[in-house]
Amino acid sequence: MISNGFLRAHQCVGLAPGAQLIVTGAVHGNETAGTRGIRRVLAEIDGGEVEIVRGRVTFVPVCNPLAYNHVRRMGERNLNRRLQPSATPQDYEDRVAGALCPLLAAHEVLLDLHSFRSPGRPFVMRGPADNRGALEPFAFEAAEARLAMHAGPNRVVEGWMSAYAAGVARRRSRALTPGAVHEDPSYGVGTTEYMRAQGGYGITLECGQHDDPRAPDVAYTAIRQTLALLGLAELPLAPPAAPFECLALSEVVDRHAEGDRFVKAWTSFDPLAAGELIAVRADGSEVHAAQAGYIVFPDVSALPGHEWFYLAQASSRPL
Ligand SMILES: [Zn+2]
Repeated sequence: MISNGFLRAHQCVGLAPGAQLIVTGAVHGNETAGTRGIRRVLAEIDGGEVEIVRGRVTFVPVCNPLAYNHVRRMGERNLNRRLQPSATPQDYEDRVAGALCPLLAAHEVLLDLHSFRSPGRPFVMRGPADNRGALEPFAFEAAEARLAMHAGPNRVVEGWMSAYAAGVARRRSRALTPGAVHEDPSYGVGTTEYMRAQGGYGITLECGQHDDPRAPDVAYTAIRQTLALLGLAELPLAPPAAPFECLALSEVVDRHAEGDRFVKAWTSFDPLAAGELIAVRADGSEVHAAQAGYIVFPDVSALPGHEWFYLAQASSRPL
């Protein structure tokens, strides 16, 4: 057990100026590949094998101690949604956000380490193209792309905020639970989205299946690559993992009722043909793929009114 009552951050400040990096693990408590990867790098720093020569790096091995202690995704809610400081914290994750958000905002670059439930290979989630829109204005596409390219995996997913904004609009139109937090337009804001809103950039690295023994190695390699890429440590930089498979989330589909069911045991990134039957709702209506693409993050245990699965297509923005 670790304490539920505080976040522990480990910080190294180089003696020459440089980038300000933060590396986070266990934002979801049962996703410990990042925690283990961070601890391995910290041990190398302690042993003198890795030296932080410029800039600053902060490691937060466990961002959600309550969820981590229970070996589950959430404490009282999903820390990686509606992430923002609150003057009137309502739950445990609000209090964590009050500690974590200022830490994130004090850095320029975020490497956020996660893992996933179903089998599959690691992938990276990156942010939008440079834009001055209202949803997620951004100006560091090129730097973020370099980070994504060197993280290790060759599968890259984008489109989180735009898919969420569309999903939230649909939820509000259904008005299942008016005013509920998951109908808030900021519901899609997690660590990387918060970082971009604060003038930084970052990627989410999904290191593999939760219990895959290789997942901590994926996290470890990505941390060292990031230290090398940003020049914080004089480590060898491996080349990009090209060719890249770049996908864009196009839609998030909610589960409406307990009786809504998938027609098969989908795994993330299973291909879908145009018109293919994905699921049948409790009322008998069928959910088909509007166009060819992939199913992503299918969640058989999604709560009614919450995200059930995502649809993705090939991205028009290759790395
Ligand atoms: Zn996660």
